[in-house]
Amino acid sequence: MKDNYIIAIDGPSGSGKSTISKKLAEKLNIEYLNTGSMYRAVTKYFLDNDIKKTDHIDFSKVFCKIKIKFDNNRIYLNDKDITDEIRNDMITKNVSWVSSIREVREFLVDSQRQIAKDSSFILDGRDIATVVFPDARYKFYLTASPRVRAQRRFDQGELDKSIDEIEKDIIKRDEYDSTRAYSPLKKAKDAIEIDSSKLTIDQTIALIIKKMEEKDAL
Ligand code: C5P
Repeated sequence: MKDNYIIAIDGPSGSGKSTISKKLAEKLNIEYLNTGSMYRAVTKYFLDNDIKKTDHIDFSKVFCKIKIKFDNNRIYLNDKDITDEIRNDMITKNVSWVSSIREVREFLVDSQRQIAKDSSFILDGRDIATVVFPDARYKFYLTASPRVRAQRRFDQGELDKSIDEIEKDIIKRDEYDSTRAYSPLKKAKDAIEIDSSKLTIDQTIALIIKKMEEKDAL
């Protein structure tokens, strides 16, 4: 395998991207960046500072107050560890509108490119292979049926919700993410699609590694 390479993993919510990316990064001994957590961090900043959808926002003023850092698989917003908090329902409900804002995307895409510029990285998100690293050496699009994705979230202990409610929320967020004007969720033309509905985490990882080896053999 080549030195300094990028693995882009995109897909809808609950498709297992983050679990798989984290494990795969450990296995390959490379870095991992969960870009969804960055959109969640900005969403937290917006909510904490009462910035609303309808506001006229001076983005340059807002962004210079937002410092996102990673350390040991934890994410910090202005030096506060927000790793657990950004998974809450309030953030999850608001993250799609915040991440549909062009300026927010430009700000975060820039940071993602900076973070991953000097070493090998796995990045997971919605637009990694289409926008952030269109020249990534390996590109995957991970899916699973909405029911399976809801079941996985339920098993992870999603708060106080039935599987039906989680499934409804997932479908709504996918719809919002795939129809937004700026870098919508979609499979890059040259990404390999993997449906993990009937695969375990380890089987999915094994399949990804097999596909990477096949590509290296070309
Ligand atoms: O991956 P996760 O579910 O944590 O992502 C939260 C939200 O962040 C997504 O629903 C999407 O709106 C946004 N996102 C994005 N582009 C990315 C990663 C996440 O728009 N690269």
